[in-house]
Parts: sequence; structure tokens; C-alpha cells
Amino acid sequence: MGNGQKAQHKRERAKPGSQKSATSQLKTNEAARTTICQVCRNSFLCTVRQKALTEHAENKHQKKLEDCFPGFVEMPKK
Ligand SMILES: [Zn+2]
Repeated sequence: MGNGQKAQHKRERAKPGSQKSATSQLKTNEAARTTICQVCRNSFLCTVRQKALTEHAENKHQKKLEDCFPGFVEMPKK
């Protein structure tokens, strides 16, 4: 009986640990990688294509990319 309990305890420890680290990793990435529209404060992943931001600026605000996202630099494709 003592043996079976030990094995189960091991399994339980391994599971939530891996789940937790995956979630916190995602959160960190999200916080670090955003481009925010200066007009409406909408946030985009900074891996977003420049075309998408230009469309946002023109369609939502009738403005140019630089007006909504000053200093935006498109991330190079990997
Ligand atoms: Zn906007």
C-alpha cells in the first residue's frame, strides 16, 4: 500500500508544474511583445505585419501608420 501511494504522489507533482510554466511563459511574451495604437490604445503583437497596422490606421482613424504607431519597425521574418 505504501508503495502505491508514493507513485501516485510523484505523478501529481509532475502534472501541474508543467502546465503552470507554460501559462506564465505565454503571459510574459504577451506583455513584452505588443505594439499599441496611440489613437485608440488597441494593442497588437509586435510581430504584426506593417500592412495590418497601416490598414488599421487608415480604416479606423483615416490616419497614417506613423500617426498611430510612431516608430514602428516591422519584425524581420524568421
Ligand atoms: Zn487605433
